[in-house]
Amino acid sequence: VERWERRYRCRRCAAVHAPDAVRWRCDCHGLLDVEGGAVSFPPDVVSRPPSLWRWAEALPFAPTGDAARIGMGEGATPVVPIIVAHRELVATVEFASPTLSFKDRGAAVLVAKASELGARRLVADSSGNAGTAIAAYAARAGLPCAVHVAASTPPAKLAQMAVHGADVRLVDGTREEVAAAAIDAVERGEGFYASHVWNPFFFEGTKTWAFDVWLALGGVPDVCVLPVGNGTLVLGAARGFEELRSAGLTAAIPRLVAVQTAACAPIARAFRANATAVEPVRNEGTVAEGIAIGAPARGDQVLDVVRASGGTVLTVEDDATMRARTLLAEQGLFVEPTAAATVAGAAVWLAAADDPAGTVVVPLCGSGLKAP
Ligand SMILES: [Zn+2]
Repeated sequence: VERWERRYRCRRCAAVHAPDAVRWRCDCHGLLDVEGGAVSFPPDVVSRPPSLWRWAEALPFAPTGDAARIGMGEGATPVVPIIVAHRELVATVEFASPTLSFKDRGAAVLVAKASELGARRLVADSSGNAGTAIAAYAARAGLPCAVHVAASTPPAKLAQMAVHGADVRLVDGTREEVAAAAIDAVERGEGFYASHVWNPFFFEGTKTWAFDVWLALGGVPDVCVLPVGNGTLVLGAARGFEELRSAGLTAAIPRLVAVQTAACAPIARAFRANATAVEPVRNEGTVAEGIAIGAPARGDQVLDVVRASGGTVLTVEDDATMRARTLLAEQGLFVEPTAAATVAGAAVWLAAADDPAGTVVVPLCGSGLKAP
């Protein structure tokens, strides 16, 4: 099966479904994945224009299509050294993306795919950055979109969505209630559910982070420290590294160290308890609102990929997050608190690791202008 003909496969009952403009889950209500399979990485990717579209042979679009037309240079983010806890780490500057967060990787691919599938209108829900990214790429694709967000979302993110012309719907409730409002709208027939959690084509975009890291370093790193709320980057990175391994371009997969905020850490709790299922928790309130997801729909899947990599899940307190934000600013990098939490997590991991040697990569996911 060619990569653009791959179907959805249900994680619960293994049923397969052809992607279309309507389906967002299995008939059994299970989560869908995109079927795996071989992809290719031609040697000339280096000489192509720097964006995630240079990985065309690994993306879910037919080579005859024009999916890349909505591209704005997303992906291929700058790679710079940073010093954390007296160690040099490799940072990828994801906030140098068109809408100032890594979510552009997933949004560009998902919106292009929605357009290819014939979607006429998009519906999304977000804690902020995914909504701004979907709003921007929907605008670029000429598709109207409605974004459901918590009323507590930082004003800069709301402004960004509104200026792109999105129908911004404030929901006075938890992140789960925000998602429920979006799903209600989808079920009423308002449009394609452009969900960065439910729709697995989002991970076809975020997986390009792994490709970019591999290209920048000339191989895969030893450890990737990644933020985890819903797991959109962890799941994408795991898929990307696995595709590189399947293609024979690396023998090993990096250890994935997933970082949660202590105020809302259902995945870390399940990891420590050696559980295979994630139980919901209440969000106690945190500066890292972008990863404060009390009931992550793909939490079990995140546990699977982190464990398979030999990695771990850890938590950081808000004061450590704000110190990490200052530490980065002192090195010229202005990130939002949610992004700084990942760097705080890297410091925690370095302090606790038995063997912290090797190359450690940390994405800087969102600009400080998002939540100053
Ligand atoms: Zn199913």
